[in-house]
Amino acid sequence: MNEAPPGSRGTPQAEARARVLAEMARAPLDLLVIGGGIVGAGVARDAAMRGLRVGLVEQHDFAYGTSSRSSRLLHGGMRYLAQGRLGLVHEASTEKKILHHIAPHLAEPLPFIFPAYQGNREWVLWQLKIGVKLYDALCGGRNLGRSTWLSREDALGKVPELRAEGLKGAVRYYDGFTNDARLTLDTLRSAAKQDALLLNYCRFVDAANREPWYCEVREELTGRSQTVLARAVANATGPWADGLPHSRVKSRVTKGVHLVVERTRVPVPEAVVMTEDKRILFAIPWGERTILGTTDTDYHGALENVRAEPADIRYLLEVANRFFPRAVVTEADVISTWAGARPLLAAPGGAPSDISRAHEIRSAEPGWWDVTGGKLTIYRLMAEQTVDKVVRMLKSSSGPNEQGGPGASRTAMEPLLPPVETEGVSGILPPAMNCAVVEHYVKQEWAVHLEDVMVRRTSWHHCFRDAARRAELVATWMAQLLSWPADTQAAELERYARVTRAGTRN
Ligand SMILES: Cc1cc2nc3c(=O)[nH]c(=O)nc-3n(C[C@H](O)[C@H](O)[C@H](O)COP(=O)(O)OP(=O)(O)OC[C@H]3O[C@@H](n4cnc5c(N)ncnc54)[C@H](O)[C@@H]3O)c2cc1C
Repeated sequence: MNEAPPGSRGTPQAEARARVLAEMARAPLDLLVIGGGIVGAGVARDAAMRGLRVGLVEQHDFAYGTSSRSSRLLHGGMRYLAQGRLGLVHEASTEKKILHHIAPHLAEPLPFIFPAYQGNREWVLWQLKIGVKLYDALCGGRNLGRSTWLSREDALGKVPELRAEGLKGAVRYYDGFTNDARLTLDTLRSAAKQDALLLNYCRFVDAANREPWYCEVREELTGRSQTVLARAVANATGPWADGLPHSRVKSRVTKGVHLVVERTRVPVPEAVVMTEDKRILFAIPWGERTILGTTDTDYHGALENVRAEPADIRYLLEVANRFFPRAVVTEADVISTWAGARPLLAAPGGAPSDISRAHEIRSAEPGWWDVTGGKLTIYRLMAEQTVDKVVRMLKSSSGPNEQGGPGASRTAMEPLLPPVETEGVSGILPPAMNCAVVEHYVKQEWAVHLEDVMVRRTSWHHCFRDAARRAELVATWMAQLLSWPADTQAAELERYARVTRAGTRN
């Protein structure tokens, strides 16, 4: 079998990657971002829009980490509301509306039905009724839709399969539905248009602060190391952040699992909130599928191995069957799964679901920032606050002639991409499967491996039961488009089967 990965040889893609790395090394960067998840992508975009010379390295594929394994919700957080964390709810609710404005193709209003049952002391109907009105108010104006109260009959009218026994009524409120990996990729595409230098499969290895920072990165497809100089460094490596040299991050990592089933098996016309004690889980309609999630348990294993274990799957099916008793959904109904590691700020005790989702931007050493915690919904704000700090530092260390320099963030106002650049290739639902879209992903969106297209660019892997068969066709297209040598196609199919079956996904 071919040893050399695709993208490592003298193909146009390999040459383009080499040019990006050479350009990063040609002259000092203002900012090197480590990590190509949503936070790193947001930081790179904001910095590039302010005119900084910015580079970003991602050790695997863009959005490989938590940013392709979330519940895909843009939300203030009903649970945080119940915990009285009103500041967090207000912050995230405002951001969800900003994302709806700058990326409407990836921020659809989604109604949630939250049923209340007799005897449930954690989620009481009258409290929920007040809660959803407060939730709307905390959006700083109008929410993505107005919340309403539903009688028992109305709730069953909207979701006929919902458990009727003990049902007292429900509330209906709005959050946003997104596609996490696509949001990351489109943020990166937007950054690239502003001249950010972006490289996936390139790992940050170490750095020394000699003003500027001398950073060693390794191009993983060729194994070539390169020194990149940067006046500032942002560590945006999510759950990997503790392990990075120079990082002062102390995080507590928890695992969350999702299942995808046919929508006919768990028929939800709108999202439904399922509760387990204080915990909130969701059944979310996703085209012809339903997403069920999520779990929240401490995780101490290797981050590359986080996956749905049989016990996680059983737990989610049990909860779903309790709320939709006629569904009797079983493991045989599961089309795909994904599991992610939440990068939470350390809190040694307490239940995982009680740990704050607040974020922190800390300068561990001069010119080095650790950006941690938070959630997908507030990535733009995290990025803005990080780049504000970087800009202040750059201005204070530059001569009086450079004091004008970069201005304020514009990321809340300017759309990520014009609709013509997202139509047919980026959305909440998977795109139609054809060679032209695959060509777009390999030529315009840095896809190197078959997995990059099947999982993160398109979600085809999660959507189709016969994803393995479809992957064969996609591999044929990629082989043509990327001039793969004969044995690479078979090696890629083998790699895809390995990572999606035994590795990080299933
Ligand atoms: C199960 C689950 C459900 C969630 N649901 C939601 C939700 O519905 N809504 C919401 O708002 N939030 C949600 N979140 C939280 C949200 O997904 C995360 O906060 C967010 O994705 C974290 O992004 P990140 O960029 O910090 O980390 P990541 O996406 O993990 O990115 C970090 C990247 O750094 C890279 N990296 C690590 N080390 C190096 C190195 N040495 N060199 C180069 N690159 C490196 C990694 O490969 C990785 O790609 C959820 C999280 C989980 C786990």
